[in-house]
Amino acid sequence: MSHMMHRNLRQTPRVAVSAQGMLVRDSEGRTYIDACGGAAVSSLGHGHPDILSAMHRQIDRNAYAHTAFFTTDVAEELADRLTAGAPEGLTEVYLVSGGSEAMETAMKLARQYFVETGQTGRTKFIARRQSYHGNTLGALAVGGNEWRRRHFGPLLIEVARVAPCYEYRDRLPDQTQDQYTGALLRELDEQIQEAGPHNIIAFVAEPVVGATGGAIAPTPGYFRGVRSLCDRYGILFIADEVMCGMGRTGTMYSIEQDGVSPDIITIGKGLGAGYQPIGAVLAQRALVDQLRKGSGAFQHGHTYIGHPVAAAAALAVQKVIERDDLLAAVRLRGEALRRMLQAEFGAHPNVGDIRGRGLLIALELVRDRPSKEPFDPARKLHASVRNKAMANGLMVYPMGGTIDGVRGDHILLAPPFIATDADLSEIVSRLSDSLAAAL
Ligand code: PLP
Repeated sequence: MSHMMHRNLRQTPRVAVSAQGMLVRDSEGRTYIDACGGAAVSSLGHGHPDILSAMHRQIDRNAYAHTAFFTTDVAEELADRLTAGAPEGLTEVYLVSGGSEAMETAMKLARQYFVETGQTGRTKFIARRQSYHGNTLGALAVGGNEWRRRHFGPLLIEVARVAPCYEYRDRLPDQTQDQYTGALLRELDEQIQEAGPHNIIAFVAEPVVGATGGAIAPTPGYFRGVRSLCDRYGILFIADEVMCGMGRTGTMYSIEQDGVSPDIITIGKGLGAGYQPIGAVLAQRALVDQLRKGSGAFQHGHTYIGHPVAAAAALAVQKVIERDDLLAAVRLRGEALRRMLQAEFGAHPNVGDIRGRGLLIALELVRDRPSKEPFDPARKLHASVRNKAMANGLMVYPMGGTIDGVRGDHILLAPPFIATDADLSEIVSRLSDSLAAAL
């Protein structure tokens, strides 16, 4: 159609021409209910008037200011907002343009911190096998998605890996939840020992796994255990909240629900809610103070960091979430959606698990429910559910295939926080038809 390189180089996607609220419309006049916020991005739905007018005001005032010369009121106010609601001690904010950039920034900040404390031998990261942290080389290196990594191996830094906290698949029948959690933490401890505690920069994990396995929340106590291991060995804990943060799970930061404070949190997606490309890194004051009193600068920076229109959009998103009490709405609607999914699929022979936090919810599809045997990855069931759903006017986010580092087929739902019960019920009904058509 044009010179544009699309994700699929053999196929041009539908053309989106307009979007409002829960609906996206294409050039052929078809509408789609956005049940996944794109990729857990559009948390306020489309065309929200408050966000649009905040952006317009900022464009009229000042569309761009390079951070080597200026800061802007909107960027400063956004940073204050983000830290005000953050877990304890996370007082420093660095604004970037998306999730992968946030992860790169976090990894570099963590490394520079150790260089400035004289611990230059710390060069390694530990991450989890079933994880996704972005597509740039550093973020891809810490991520565990083999399919995304497969062409780039020689260019990626080596990262030690541990198991994800994936109770549905990995907790043994004779293990209690506590025993399972304990086993995961022992594995992390052993991995730290093997890599050498003094060689490690950080442990990196998504508080709720998003794009590589679908809405997998941790067991109680898992992240408290991670925090204490990191403290014991002086390792930083980087929580990647690019997908699960910014209210998606019913609290502004998902890790709040696990009762710990990471050293660094990365956010993106719902921060700009699709209105602008923006991500951010939040860091503990002590960490940044080390650089302040050391070299005096973070050796980093991109042309578009702290972009004022992106900051204005993100700030307006924060204000709408607060004014409209949308965190409470996420909790309420999340429970409602799970109830509806349970009623529809709770006894379905090919739905093994319905799980998640807030409005980040996934179905895991299995060939055989009692044994949890997945479908043959070659069948790409997740993709055919997505295609059938699009034909039924529904957007859902599919994941699957063993080679992807994703075990089984998953359908992720991440509807906008403004979804009504009627919207959710329509989503479940269309999903049910789509699954039946795909099976
Ligand atoms: N981290 C997580 C947990 C993600 O889900 C994603 C994107 O899906 C990223 C990082 C990368 O974000 P972006 O696609 O904005 O670069």
